Amino acid sequence: MATVRTTWGWRRGVGAPARRLKVTYLRGPGVGAPDTMPKQMDCADLGMDCGFKASGETTEEVVQKAAAHAQDVHGLEATPELAAKVQSVVREI
Ligand SMILES: [Zn+2]
Repeated sequence: MATVRTTWGWRRGVGAPARRLKVTYLRGPGVGAPDTMPKQMDCADLGMDCGFKASGETTEEVVQKAAAHAQDVHGLEATPELAAKVQSVVREI
């Protein structure tokens, strides 16, 4: 079995394709401005069978929207416990 390997042909088949440099920015407490990233929460993360998502510029805004939604749609009371629960599932987007 004869295999013809030209120099370029051999080299082309070897090694990984050129990788693009991907820059990832660190996000988290103490890195940059801590509370200016857009936030979002999914109602489903609270254990609801619900597709509602609340988003806002701050955690507080998201919590307020989610609390209003929880009251209107799920008949829940906007208690500090509920707010804490919402806060725990808010994430940056
Ligand atoms: Zn909901």
